[in-house]
This record gives sequence, structure tokens and C-alpha cells, in this order.
Amino acid sequence: MDLKQFITIVPDWPRPGISFKDISSLMENGEAYRYATDQIVEYAQDKQIDIVVGPEARGFIIGCPVAYSLGVGFAPVRKEGKLPRETIKVEYGLEYGKDVLTMHKDVIKPGQRVLITDDLLATGGTIEATIKLVEELGGVVAGIAFLIDLTYLEGRSKLEGYDVLTLMTY
Ligand code: 5GP
Repeated sequence: MDLKQFITIVPDWPRPGISFKDISSLMENGEAYRYATDQIVEYAQDKQIDIVVGPEARGFIIGCPVAYSLGVGFAPVRKEGKLPRETIKVEYGLEYGKDVLTMHKDVIKPGQRVLITDDLLATGGTIEATIKLVEELGGVVAGIAFLIDLTYLEGRSKLEGYDVLTLMTY
């Protein structure tokens, strides 16, 4: 299936000059959503995944059906102040300023194998921060799956040495 036909490109959103790849139009189509999910499940199937981890909010949309299908759990990575139990946090750079991502401290046991999911790889800052959280807890990043890689932003350079799947590139 050609998944790109389900992506809506929204010019000048959220700011002038940005060409936003809207994945919600893919999610709204049951066949396309299932197909994309199945591709990631197939990729992860032989990786002995113990848990799926994804950053808010679109990482949940990708990761949860994959976790369900693999028969493993899902752990959210969220902005500071959103998770109720004890968390660890990591700061990461944005275009302007900094942001913080957090994760519950007790969700990963050392040595557990983790699949990280997100909708889109841009500069790689979000996924790099997510990897740091997982590894700080002793998790092994066994795979990273995205729907989309914006290759011109070269986020892949931050993921050298990791096993990465992307279903579409721009
Ligand atoms: P990065 O940290 O790699 O620069 O940015 C990736 C994050 O920003 C992802 O979590 C993704 O959801 C969001 N993002 C950035 N640009 C886009 C876009 O064009 N489309 C979508 N769907 N998400 C984007």
C-alpha cells in the first residue's frame, strides 16, 4: 500500500515556511492505519520486545496498537508535570529554548528490550531524548519505528548504531 497518499501536507503550519506532514488523515483510514501498524509489528516481531515506549502525543497513536498486537505493554514519555508517579527527566534543545521529557522511573527493568515509536523523525531531538530516558533506566533500545523521516533534516545522524524503521521519507 502506498501510505503517502494518506498523508496531508499542510503548508505554512504551524508557522510560515513549515510544510507540516499531517498523519491524522492516515489514522482516519482504518485500512491504512492497520497496514502501517502491521508493518511496524512485522519489523518488531523477532526483536523480543518487552515494552513499547513513545513520546506524546503522536508516539502514543503509533505505539499503542503495536504494543497491543505484540502482546506487550506501552509506556508514555510526556512533558514535565504530566506523569503522576516518580519520574526521571531529560532536557533537550528546541529551535528556540529547551523542553523537558519525563518517564515513570519504575516502568523499565534493566536489560528489558524496548521498541520506541513516534510518528515522525525531524531533527531527531525528541527521539534522542526518549532514547536517553530508556537507557538511563537500563533499557536496551532494540528498535525505533517512525511513519515518516524528513531526511533533509538529517535526524538519522543522531541515531547511528540503532536499528531504525521508517515507512515513508520526504
Ligand atoms: P524532532 O524532535 O525530530 O525535531 O521533531 C519530531 C517531533 O515533532 C515528533 O514528535 C513529531 O510528532 C513532531 N513533528 C515535527 N514536524 C512534524 C510534521 O511535519 N508532522 C508531524 N506529524 N509531526 C511533526
